[in-house]
Formats: sequence, structure tokens, C-alpha cells
Amino acid sequence: MPNAQLEDLDSWHFAPPEMSRLLLNWYARAGRELPWRKTRDAYRIWLAEIMLQQTTVAAVVEYYQHFLHQFPTLERLAAAPLEQVIDLWAGLGYYARARNLHATAQRVVADYQGRFPNTLAELMSLPGIGRSTAGAIAALAYEQPTPILDANVRRVLCRLFALQEPPRSTGAEKKLWAWAAALTPRQQVHDYTQAIMDLGALVCISSTPHCATCPLAELCRARQLGLTNQLPLKKARKKVPLRRQLALLLVAGESCLVRRRPPSGLLGGLWEFPNFEATDKPAAEVIPVYLGGQLPVKNLVLLGGARHTYSHFALEIDFYRVEIETQLQVAEPGDCCWLPLEQLPQLALHGAHKKLLPLIGN
Ligand code: SF4
Repeated sequence: MPNAQLEDLDSWHFAPPEMSRLLLNWYARAGRELPWRKTRDAYRIWLAEIMLQQTTVAAVVEYYQHFLHQFPTLERLAAAPLEQVIDLWAGLGYYARARNLHATAQRVVADYQGRFPNTLAELMSLPGIGRSTAGAIAALAYEQPTPILDANVRRVLCRLFALQEPPRSTGAEKKLWAWAAALTPRQQVHDYTQAIMDLGALVCISSTPHCATCPLAELCRARQLGLTNQLPLKKARKKVPLRRQLALLLVAGESCLVRRRPPSGLLGGLWEFPNFEATDKPAAEVIPVYLGGQLPVKNLVLLGGARHTYSHFALEIDFYRVEIETQLQVAEPGDCCWLPLEQLPQLALHGAHKKLLPLIGN
């Protein structure tokens, strides 16, 4: 352990082995049974870790099993077309994960003979694998004492040490990683890693934590100071610019037009309804122009609106049902196709346009 961490340990209010002993005892009786818990196969562990980034366990279980059914090996995933991977990911959101998953599978097959590397540096060189995910793979698949700092662990540590600074600040980040490293034991790393994630997911939850049943209650600084509900400190919300869009449910007979976005760039490879930036002109005027000007529009109805916030802008969408006589192509980048309306729920629409589906009705 580096000296800086040893010096820090002098001022700690408990010894790391005490914490891991309490946590492991609790995990033995209260840990979750999850489909990826029993395996030491790095492919399966990596898949679960990627799916669990920004998605709840409850939502992931079914996708994980379905995904493994389609791609039982890393080689099968690497050989599949990217579109198939994205379509299988439909509904999980944060689709960059699906693209990175595919790219990483291809890299591991090409550069590591299909076997995941076991060093942090090599793992972190793969697309979509950051320091925490690399730590989780090394700890869970290869039993290495590598720390993790996912959202659950971050919350537990912020409270355990009563960290009273924004947890994403550079200084806080350094402290959190140092604490995580110092706490990770050299033995039973697999169980410890699962245990601390479970504690954050089941007991030290983000709303009101269940301190009365927490195995670390006696060690917890936030509890001693009465700060459990205030920590971690919340991030101030950033104001983002607003964009307005018109999206069209362009219907001919029982089908509607959808397009797949180009594979690279924002929301690459995902499906969406035809759309364009809104202006102050009325929809009844601009929609026929967008459709080429010559198309006879049989019916045009506003179905409703939706709002979606990305990290750097917010989008307000007005969604129109536009009926036309025949299935004509619209000048759009990406792949357009006509799809039976009843198949829309299965399509890998991006999040903003997924919000439009309930507006369609019958
Ligand atoms: S005592 Fe409460 S706040 Fe502290 S680690 Fe346990 S659940 Fe979290």
C-alpha cells in the first residue's frame, strides 16, 4: 500500500479488517442471489458489469440471460453484426454500452485470443471499461485485490467517512479511491466486492438508509454525526439549452416510417421517427414541405409532446401523426424502412422517441 494511504490509516476511526469482517459476515446471510454471482468467467462478469452501469439489477436480470442465450461466448458476440447487438440491447438505454461491448469483444478476440486480460491497465484500455469496471472484473474473475467505486460503493464510503465535499470533485475522487483501495482485503476479494455493492443497493440506499440493520453502523461517521440523509452531497443541477423538434408518425396503411441513425455519433445505430428542428411556422405548413411538397397528406393530427434531457441539452418534441397514401421514402440520412405499426414496441428506439410510443394509442 502506498505511504500516503498508510498515513491516512493512522487517522482512521476503525481498522479495515474490522470493516471487511463485519461486511463479509453480513453478506453470508443477506447477500443477493444473482445469475452472475456464481461464475468466475470474465466474459459473463464483464457483461453483467456493463449492463449494471446506469441500470437496476431488476431490469438487468432478464436482459443478461437473454443476451447470453444469443451470445453464449465472447467469440459469438464478436462475430455478430453491431445492429444485432444494438437491437438486443433495446430497452436497456445508454446504447454506447452496446457499441462498446461489441468493440471490446472484437478487441479481446483479436488481441488476447478471446480471453480477457487480468491487469487493470489492459482492462482499462478496452472500450467502455473504466477504472471501477476494470477493478470489478479483476476482483470477481481473477480474485485480485483491486478496488471498485461504482455508485453504490461511492455512497457507502461517502457516509462511512462522512465526506462533506462534492463526491465528484477531484479531491473527493482521490480520497474515495484511496479509501476503497485500503478497505479491499487481500483474501475473499470476490465476496467482499459483491458485499459492498450489495450493502449500497440494499441497506445504504440513496434515499433514507436502513442504518438500524446496517452491519457497519458502529463504524459509520455519518451516523455518528447525524448526517446520513445529507450525504453524499448533492450535485447542483446544470442548466442546459432547450431544443425543439417535430417528430412524425408517418403512416401509410398499417405501416409507419422509421429510420436507423448512422452507426457513429449521437445515439448511433438506434432507431427513431422522422424528425426535424421546429421553427415558429405552423406544423401544417412545414410538415408537407419536409415531406417533399408534393405528397398529399390525408390527415395530420398532433398526438402530444414529450421532453427528454441529455447531458448537454434538453429536447422538447411535438409528435404528429401524418397519414399519406403510399409508402414513399423521405430524404433522411441513415437507413429508412416501413415497419408494421404493431412492431414498434420491439424496436430499439432511442430514449426520447421511446417516450412517444404511449402517445400512439391504438
Ligand atoms: S450506518 Fe447507515 S449511512 Fe452508515 S453505512 Fe450503514 S446504512 Fe449507510
